[in-house]
Amino acid sequence: MDFAHSKEDDLFRQEVQDFLANKLTDDLKQRARAAGWRTFTDHGLAMEWQSILHEQGWVAPAWPKEHGGTGWSVMQRFIYQQECVAAGTPRLYPQGIMMLGPTLIGHGTEEQQSYYMPRILSGEDLWCQGYSEPGSGSDLASLQTKAVKDGGDYIINGTKIWTSTAHHANRMFALVRTSAEDKPQKGITFLMLEMDTPGIEVEPIINMAGEHEFNQVFFTDVRVPQSGRVGEEGQGWTVAKYLLEFERGSLSAGASLANALTKLKSFASERDSESGPALIDEAGFRTRLHELEVAADAIAMTEKIVLSSLSANQNPGSAANVSKILSSETQQQIQELAMEAAGYYGVPNHIVLEEFGPNFGPIGPDTSRNNVASYLTGRMSTIAGGTGEVQRNILAKLELGL
Ligand SMILES: Cc1cc2nc3c(=O)[nH]c(=O)nc-3n(C[C@H](O)[C@H](O)[C@H](O)COP(=O)(O)OP(=O)(O)OC[C@H]3O[C@@H](n4cnc5c(N)ncnc54)[C@H](O)[C@@H]3O)c2cc1C
Repeated sequence: MDFAHSKEDDLFRQEVQDFLANKLTDDLKQRARAAGWRTFTDHGLAMEWQSILHEQGWVAPAWPKEHGGTGWSVMQRFIYQQECVAAGTPRLYPQGIMMLGPTLIGHGTEEQQSYYMPRILSGEDLWCQGYSEPGSGSDLASLQTKAVKDGGDYIINGTKIWTSTAHHANRMFALVRTSAEDKPQKGITFLMLEMDTPGIEVEPIINMAGEHEFNQVFFTDVRVPQSGRVGEEGQGWTVAKYLLEFERGSLSAGASLANALTKLKSFASERDSESGPALIDEAGFRTRLHELEVAADAIAMTEKIVLSSLSANQNPGSAANVSKILSSETQQQIQELAMEAAGYYGVPNHIVLEEFGPNFGPIGPDTSRNNVASYLTGRMSTIAGGTGEVQRNILAKLELGL
């Protein structure tokens, strides 16, 4: 793939920059920075930014035009993401836009597409993902939440856990077991359901940073119409795997991490004037900083490999797994270095780690607590969406045939 930008790409970049200069107010930027530490996003902020993007028709860069997406080329999507990172836009919830939407295009009926997709774009529907269960995370195929056919409905019993955003969402897409015969993967079905259906209870789980971001969801005799099924009964595993490819794909982690490192560098340089020797000049600190810069470059290069495959309508394969492993681990290493940098000078209250990009920000006036909260929240990056070990297993299979 030729990565030199065409004249059209440059014009497109200008259009994005103009839009962001016009619509991304200082207030939105400031709130986006302050919410940067969260796993997903700040609810009110995400919905506000989504409605601005919706007016512009830019909520879903990866969807085709006929489904209300932008119809952009892969290169345009890449440029858009880079510009959003550079400008510091708020993040949107990914479950509907990045996961369910493409899945409905691939596996949904026309009726499902035309009903649900516009509602995802407008923000009328907010989705959560009901995959994991107690005891079924990496080994997702072992899931036990049961759906039994009854007339035109399924009746669901069981529980889902770590369900992000279930306390805000009005809908869930879930994997349920419709058969215990045969291979575990074969008895799984993909269902869409409404969160206010009788028999659903959402219990908050407070994460180790003290925040309510995910939940446990209990199902007791929950009646879900069969029309909510995506794909055939028992084909849920195929649908779920298709969806996971979208969950794991990113084209902007390299840029985000480089951004965070630039801020960390400037933080470490500024420290010297107030507190003795320059942290940035300490050999140990510099070496680690440079190692992380090399890692961020490597991630950006890997994302270009992904971009190149996508442009050729090919599955990015193992490059997406490499990118996920490297970016999640590098993010945590940057956070560790940022914590050390702050700790070295004893973080006065006015110094906030929000400057270090996603997952580095404060959540209120007590910045010391917030720095710790953001560091703790960042531990999730090597777990959510498939752990680092599981990604390595996939790589070993794909690349080494193990
Ligand atoms: C912030 C956050 C948000 C989340 N949001 C959602 C959500 O919205 N919806 C949802 O469904 N789920 C969600 N999850 C759950 C997430 O998908 C699971 O945590 C993840 O799949 C791992 O499963 P587990 O927690 O059960 O860990 P386990 O699978 O029990 O793993 C425990 C440890 O064992 C290792 N391990 C497991 N199997 C293997 C193996 N075969 N080889 C080597 N090592 C292995 C793992 O890498 C890990 O270190 C979220 C998780 C987090 C952290």
